[in-house]
Amino acid sequence: MAIHGGAGPDSDYIKQNMQGYEDGLKEAVMTGYKVLEAGGSAVDAVEASVNYLENNLLFNAGRGSAINHKGEVEMDASIMDGEKIKAGAVSMVKNVKNPVSLARYIMNNTNHVMLSDHGALELAKDEDIELEADAYFINSHQYDLFIEERDKKSTQELLKQRIHGTVGAVAMDENGNVAAATSTGGLTNSLGGRIGDSCIIGGGTYANNKTCAVSGTGDGEFLINGVIAHSIASVIEYTQSTLQEACDLVIHEKNKHVEGDIGVISVNANGDIGISFNSERMHRAWMSTDVPLQVKIYN
Ligand code: ASP
Repeated sequence: MAIHGGAGPDSDYIKQNMQGYEDGLKEAVMTGYKVLEAGGSAVDAVEASVNYLENNLLFNAGRGSAINHKGEVEMDASIMDGEKIKAGAVSMVKNVKNPVSLARYIMNNTNHVMLSDHGALELAKDEDIELEADAYFINSHQYDLFIEERDKKSTQELLKQRIHGTVGAVAMDENGNVAAATSTGGLTNSLGGRIGDSCIIGGGTYANNKTCAVSGTGDGEFLINGVIAHSIASVIEYTQSTLQEACDLVIHEKNKHVEGDIGVISVNANGDIGISFNSERMHRAWMSTDVPLQVKIYN
């Protein structure tokens, strides 16, 4: 099991809240790991870890999401089952307490992969998926960032935004099935309606038992353009690379031209874990039957 809490530049806020971040990362990976130990599936485990991080105010997903240029929280999330090669996703969703659980509902109960905005919210209401008022999602840190950034009005300025964060999880269960999930509040001060990689299957999330499960983070446009999550699976499918080699190849070779942050966590059906990022830090934690709990933020 591996989880991440976003890759990107370092900040004073991170330094000031180091203990809270480390505790949160530890709790998140253990939440999923306990599900696996109790015989739960990889899909159950990644949903549980991501739910924990969505509910934790320090991470940019669910509660504590970034605020866009319109002053609104619009969230993206996705989940993929590597056994069934099936995914569910939501984009631009508001008021849903745990967007990744709505994504899972879509995967399990509809013929669709992705719902967005009003349609996603309508489904959540119809199916009694937990909702929260707008204020629930906003913390004072994200509000301060929004106030600092909102006067940058030109599209060029908006497109240069690099204030972001995301959460994600990958897991392999006792049956050798893998799964991945990712959830985000996106970028501070992004244009309203902007959709990032976290809900894009193959970009920010991918899972296939034959290759690996991947959850990505960073400047989402680069993860979409580089089809990062699926690229890692393809490297494994068509070369003899190990999981770690495939992650490093995609992040540090194939995408070395990228002038932005990109990072991934991954697992395969052997229980190997691969982690790679080009940024100053990536909040992350992992553990397995062979590897005791590891929690790291910097290199
Ligand atoms: N990838 C996310 C997005 O672009 C942000 C992040 O991972 O920090 O929405």
